[in-house]
Amino acid sequence: MAFESLSDKFQNIFNNLKKKGKLSEADVKAAMREVKMALLEADVNFKVVKDFVNAVKERAIGDEVMESLTPGQHVIKIVNEEMVALMGSDESELTFTTGGGPTIYMMVGLQGAGKTTTSAKLAGLLKKKGKKPLLVACDIYRPAAIKQLQVVGEQLSIPVFSMGNQNKPIDIAKAALEHGSKNHHDLIILDTAGRLHIDETMMDELIELKEVIKPKETLLVVDAMTGQDAVHVAELFNEKIGVDGVILTKLDGDTRGGAALSVKAVTQKPIKFAGMGEKLSDLEVFYPERMASRILGMGDVLTLIEKAQSNIDQKKASEMERKFRKAEFNFEDFLEQMQQLKSMGSLSDLMAMIPGMSAQMKNVQIDDKEMAKMEAMILSMTVEERNDPNVINVSRKNRIAAGSGNKIQDVNRFIKQFEQSKKMMKQMSGMMGKKGRRGGKG
Ligand code: GDP
Repeated sequence: MAFESLSDKFQNIFNNLKKKGKLSEADVKAAMREVKMALLEADVNFKVVKDFVNAVKERAIGDEVMESLTPGQHVIKIVNEEMVALMGSDESELTFTTGGGPTIYMMVGLQGAGKTTTSAKLAGLLKKKGKKPLLVACDIYRPAAIKQLQVVGEQLSIPVFSMGNQNKPIDIAKAALEHGSKNHHDLIILDTAGRLHIDETMMDELIELKEVIKPKETLLVVDAMTGQDAVHVAELFNEKIGVDGVILTKLDGDTRGGAALSVKAVTQKPIKFAGMGEKLSDLEVFYPERMASRILGMGDVLTLIEKAQSNIDQKKASEMERKFRKAEFNFEDFLEQMQQLKSMGSLSDLMAMIPGMSAQMKNVQIDDKEMAKMEAMILSMTVEERNDPNVINVSRKNRIAAGSGNKIQDVNRFIKQFEQSKKMMKQMSGMMGKKGRRGGKG
């Protein structure tokens, strides 16, 4: 599995942090030394590691953390946030040409990186979203590349434009554009020629192709399993021809994760997709938040949704999904969820899957008493407060605390955690939408 050893190491480091009550500066520094080692062993770029650790350290050795009631959790939260930022704070969506001609993507990369396979995977993914793609075989150098594209194109029922290997890529591309517009294709994906190594001729050819064709996006395909080499390739391609995004292939086979964690920081270009296997359906949108969650072993909203879909009635599940997506989730929904979750199994397992909650509470002992406490707080709220947590001011908090037999600090913490999970739900919403549409089984 991807990131396995890095994930194990983070779990150990975090467990040690959480065991401690108060954290001293020395504790944070010691933990950061371990984080540094773990990242270096995962083959993350040295400078990226240094900057990452410094950024976490700077935030973690502040008053906010030292005075927090759960300093360990606080440090973990910072690590998570910095990791998301490292891989790109936003999910980087593809852009499409609006009005006028078709959207053209130019796929570039070294031989063997997975360019041909990924061109087809991407065409397949976008076809499902209603596009009418045309694949274009411009890789005239790699033996069998054209045939390979035709085979995968056929599997996906996507037409492939080719002119054999006797024409120049630029002429093939031009003819393909004409063919594409005649046949009403709104998406044209060019599988360009790679080489075993970066060489001038290849770069010149790609530069010329890009200038003439003017693709909406130039997407670089790199092999995650080559670690820092992939990052280096990305740097060079970006310098020479300029890329809009990176597609990281073979992440399924990359147990270390160095490329995934370095590419964005080194090139300033987002990773847009990740190849997760050889099958044509194995291409995933790259969501930094979800990757960070996977690496750090944190919440998994997909599993939560899947569980909800199989345990809760579909109408309610899709209503909840809509609320998650719009971040309209309020305490009333939370209460309803809590009551349903109770009938679904182990509470701590379920809580760990709620985004935000997982980071804050995964290792806080969540027992029935904890749940009862939260339930009591919500039950002490008025309907207005449950529907719109923003109205809960200090005097209302005091009343809720008194009414539920808690301290005002408990109420504050609960509301804060709730707001954080709402924020994360919004960030993760795209992902859930995708999963939801697939029926939640995949
Ligand atoms: P190209 O030379 O860049 O066009 O590379 P290909 O598309 O021919 O891919 C090279 C090999 O990598 C093929 O055997 C693909 O099946 C394989 N491959 C591509 N993407 C992935 C991926 O995400 N995961 C795995 N496991 N294999 C992949």
